[in-house]
Amino acid sequence: MTLPPLREVIARHGLSASKALGQNFLFDEQLLDRIAAIPGDLAGANVLEVGPGPGGLTRALLRAGAKVTAVEMDRRCLPALAEVADAFPGQLTVIEGDAMKIAPTEMFGSEPFAVVANLPYNVGTALFTGWLSGKAWPPQWRSLTLMFQLEVAERIVAKAGSGAYGRLAVLAQWRSAAKLAMKVHRSAFTPPPKVMSAIVHVEPVAMPEGVSAKVLERVTEAAFGQRRKMLRQSLKGVPGALAALEQLGIDPQRRAETLTIEEFTGIARALGQAGA
Ligand code: SAM
Repeated sequence: MTLPPLREVIARHGLSASKALGQNFLFDEQLLDRIAAIPGDLAGANVLEVGPGPGGLTRALLRAGAKVTAVEMDRRCLPALAEVADAFPGQLTVIEGDAMKIAPTEMFGSEPFAVVANLPYNVGTALFTGWLSGKAWPPQWRSLTLMFQLEVAERIVAKAGSGAYGRLAVLAQWRSAAKLAMKVHRSAFTPPPKVMSAIVHVEPVAMPEGVSAKVLERVTEAAFGQRRKMLRQSLKGVPGALAALEQLGIDPQRRAETLTIEEFTGIARALGQAGA
């Protein structure tokens, strides 16, 4: 069964883009196929798509052979998504609801899944930080392939020493590999957003030993909370942190943005050993 072009689907179902729901749709099939290829071979793989809207990216994921579970809040999109499900029998499950409130285990049990989404910008960072902060590691997700505003994507993949480097970079890279997979021009969206976008691809890697996520979070929060200050000032309120700097030979006159991720995890490890 051939599906009608997305623009026709939008018109037929009256899917005018809602600003409140962060709706900016992608229609270019070639671009959507390139996005669906970023995670690698998806044939037979479980994929969670958040915010399928009228289903452009969903179709591309299904063409790649994925088994897609798509969570959409806007019930106006459901009839269009039902047509997509009919065209790919047994491959698509649509859940009406708020992705922030649905646990992956409800959708996938204990099976691994990849996340691929052109996320609504307002919920994107919250979902992303939640997925990266999970206690269990490696996590149930095997990769995250997500659209962000370019400026946020740059913060996620930033390296030490750059202005974009901060808490988000440490969170995304201390036990994952994060790369900027593709820039997407604003004109690719309908309606075009004000800013440029980019797709980030994240895969989990081994967690450094002896590092507590909570302690690391406390250190980065303090260090980047006063990012222009020297560490001896910004880390003053974290018990044991200044002793950890000395133990590791890290100059307390440095600023947070000069510290590599290994240096941050080293501080967190030392604090953990000291019982912090
Ligand atoms: N994936 C489509 C595309 O690429 O053309 C639509 C992308 S649009 C930027 C974001 C979609 O996410 C919208 O369809 C919106 O209704 C949906 N959405 C917004 N907040 C959501 C939430 N909390 N849970 C699930 N879907 C949400």
